[in-house]
Amino acid sequence: MDISEQLFERAKKVLPGGVNSPVRAYRAVGMAPRFITRADGAYICDEDGKKYIDYVCSWGPMILGHNHPVIREAVEKAVQDGLSFGAPTRREVDIAELMVELVPNIEMVRMVNSGTEAVMSALRLARGATGRDKLIKFEGCYHGHSDCMLVNAGSSALAGGHPSSAGVPVGAAKDTLTAQFNDLDSVKELLEQNPGQVAAVIVEPVAANMGVVNPAPGFLPGLRQLCDQHGALLIFDEVITGFRLALGGAQAYFGVKADLVTFGKIIGGGMPVGAYCGSRALLEQVAPCGPVYQAGTLSGNPVAMAAGLAQLTYLKEHPEIYTDLAAKGEKLARGLRAAAEEAGVPVAINQIGSLLAPFFTPTEVTTFTDAKGSDVGRYARYFQAMLEGGVALAPAQFEAMFVSEAHGDAELDATLAAALAALRSL
Ligand SMILES: *Cc1c(COP(=O)(O)O)cnc(C)c1O
Repeated sequence: MDISEQLFERAKKVLPGGVNSPVRAYRAVGMAPRFITRADGAYICDEDGKKYIDYVCSWGPMILGHNHPVIREAVEKAVQDGLSFGAPTRREVDIAELMVELVPNIEMVRMVNSGTEAVMSALRLARGATGRDKLIKFEGCYHGHSDCMLVNAGSSALAGGHPSSAGVPVGAAKDTLTAQFNDLDSVKELLEQNPGQVAAVIVEPVAANMGVVNPAPGFLPGLRQLCDQHGALLIFDEVITGFRLALGGAQAYFGVKADLVTFGKIIGGGMPVGAYCGSRALLEQVAPCGPVYQAGTLSGNPVAMAAGLAQLTYLKEHPEIYTDLAAKGEKLARGLRAAAEEAGVPVAINQIGSLLAPFFTPTEVTTFTDAKGSDVGRYARYFQAMLEGGVALAPAQFEAMFVSEAHGDAELDATLAAALAALRSL
């Protein structure tokens, strides 16, 4: 047993499945997880002293690469002044102003501690503001683990083969209606069957928890139109796409306006942060201004805000990062397609900007059904071969690859060489 395996044995005795979040347990790829000691730039190191090019990037936050000096220094500086006050601070205003400046259509921000919390609170606000109870989500989209979103959810809820969860009361799930991503008719039908009852349609503008599935042309504008027709709010869950597709997120990238937007991951720079945002009229429905209650002891934590503010400021000051990230994403996608062809393995590569996913299926992947048609056993073998070759991918087929600013040509070329060898070995 190597050190990671020994740690995993200890972990399993005191942590359910040996982990604090399910996908980390590597169950979908049938091996013990690597225990990480440190990470720098594009690389992570494990307890056994092995080094990998990392495409998990903490599931998205590390868009500038690991241990970026600008963020590290901001955190080190903030720590000198104390860890938490439970009182307002200047940095909360600074980061909210910056988000309002960079993201279209938002006037106010409420900070929380995770993406789950952001979505849960945005949904409460949508229900409170509309006086309606029902929600529409898409099968295979993941919005965190709040009760009403654990219905036909994506991400590791999918890899585990449990599309929903035990412990979610029927009452909490009964108002969540499920539509099909990239199928406007499925949304129209639900809205028509539930007239005047749907508070919000929530969507990942790019579905990035079923692998990566891009919105079909017309899909997001169509959702906007349907929501307007039926008096429902449109919520973009931008926990992944926010500050990744573009500085202004998916609203800017696709030119579609959402009523409420949720963020997480990148806005914390690696610290636990989430936020929900929207117009003043909507956000002033939230306590202490309005009747929708939501609070948080550690919300807007000064150290977390320092990390997030440093990352967002850096991104604002270096907007060329986005063209660069997209070029890297394209290079990887092109290279992986060529490698798959050379190895004679049918793989569909979906890519948008710095997000990409290889699906082990001979068909195109434009829907959740297509994604589910992937050969997960083959992905597991590919994952193992890549890890062996020094590349750490998401340990499940239905997750995205995240490219960071720290992934240079040397890392991309090494990744493609490892991929060709891995695909040939399948
Ligand atoms: C990760 C994710 C969440 C949940 O965020 P946590 O910080 O893990 O609670 C919600 N929505 C989307 C789209 C995500 O990718």
